[in-house]
Amino acid sequence: MDLSYSPEEERFRARVRAFLEANLPKGSGGGDYGAMFRDDVEVLRDWQRKLYENGFLGMAWPKEYGGQGASAIEMAIFNEECAKVKAPGPLNVLGLSLAGPTIIAHGTPEQKKRYLPKILSCEEIWCQGFSEPGSGSDLGSLRTRAELRGDEFIVNGQKVWTSLAHIADWCMLLVRTDPTLPKHRGLSYLLVDMKSPGVTVRPLRQMTGGAEFNEMFFEDVRVPRENLLGGLNNGWKVAMTTLANERGTMSLALAARFFITYNEMVNMARNQGRLKDSRVRQQLAQFYVDLQGLKYTLYRSFSTILRGGTPGPEGSVSKIVWSETNQRMHEFAMSLQGPASQLTGRQPYSVESGRWQYGFLRSRANTIEAGTSEIQRNIIAERVLGLPRAR
Ligand SMILES: Cc1cc2nc3c(=O)[nH]c(=O)nc-3n(C[C@H](O)[C@H](O)[C@H](O)COP(=O)(O)OP(=O)(O)OC[C@H]3O[C@@H](n4cnc5c(N)ncnc54)[C@H](O)[C@@H]3O)c2cc1C
Repeated sequence: MDLSYSPEEERFRARVRAFLEANLPKGSGGGDYGAMFRDDVEVLRDWQRKLYENGFLGMAWPKEYGGQGASAIEMAIFNEECAKVKAPGPLNVLGLSLAGPTIIAHGTPEQKKRYLPKILSCEEIWCQGFSEPGSGSDLGSLRTRAELRGDEFIVNGQKVWTSLAHIADWCMLLVRTDPTLPKHRGLSYLLVDMKSPGVTVRPLRQMTGGAEFNEMFFEDVRVPRENLLGGLNNGWKVAMTTLANERGTMSLALAARFFITYNEMVNMARNQGRLKDSRVRQQLAQFYVDLQGLKYTLYRSFSTILRGGTPGPEGSVSKIVWSETNQRMHEFAMSLQGPASQLTGRQPYSVESGRWQYGFLRSRANTIEAGTSEIQRNIIAERVLGLPRAR
């Protein structure tokens, strides 16, 4: 593994830095990653448009559909530089990281032409309608039904935990099209217009105070047959592409982001006068060691991608380590604050405007979203270590 960059890659890095310096939305770059923009859809929409116009989105996508045909290493450098200045992520994150790659892998030329450019330009925002009440980890048991009648599917059912559905224009919807087939074989993958009559979205409030995700209800929603992605009853295979991308790592960006959180935690410990305590220093040193391990695991996944591979079950190792380390770091950060850890953003005497409190609460979701830690451990046991199957 060669961890150095070529002069050309260094030039690209300098271009990214200059762009970020000139264009980063006002108010970002402090606090947690883009948290202050959570509710500011228009700021984020503009930001994504700028990224796209300057050639920093869809970098590895085919040029004919608006991508840049750039190398994976350039993409990683871009993500790493964004993480360093805490640039807000693009608004259409699920379109860019999940819907786009899935459509590139399974879409017809017409579907690619229709959907990909608008994902990049943020004209159309996407959400992912997979989980249902009772079908999260066991996704194959989902019950939302789509009946093919002539040239249309009629969809009925409910989804839950659908991030961004309240602002989404399109949904990657996993539905049951043949209940007589074994559970994973009777599924299909539809691209659903969120403005279709019969779609209802109800936001769910989280313990952070934000409302990132929603319940979605489908009542006799008509979806044209041409919106089927990857063939009738082939939905499980298509969904696996989406999940591989979801669980695949953001490699260098993720590593950079956790080192920044770490350094900020050390600063906070210093400001709180806690560095005199040898137990605090021991714990900080342990986090440093853990993060180095995570960094090189992420680099290893990244090398696989550079060699033309796709994110595999090894991504589960990084998913467990980053999600659980992030939780432990935020728990420790709270303990460093003593009684002040109970004070959130707007209260007088709160530490650093409550950013650690927000991070602590939000990090609880890390070991659930994109597949729980237990499910990732099952994947590692069965598919990486070759141990007997649980069921
Ligand atoms: C912030 C956030 C955003 C999300 N966004 C989306 C989204 O946009 N779209 C979407 O479709 N979904 C989304 N989800 C849903 C997420 O994918 C599910 O919550 C997750 O897959 C777990 O499913 P569940 O909540 O139904 O829990 P369950 O599957 O009911 O699990 C409950 C508990 O049982 C354990 N468990 C279950 N099965 C096993 C097993 N076989 N072995 C060992 N333990 C097991 C789990 O680990 C967990 O601890 C989001 C979730 C969160 C937290």
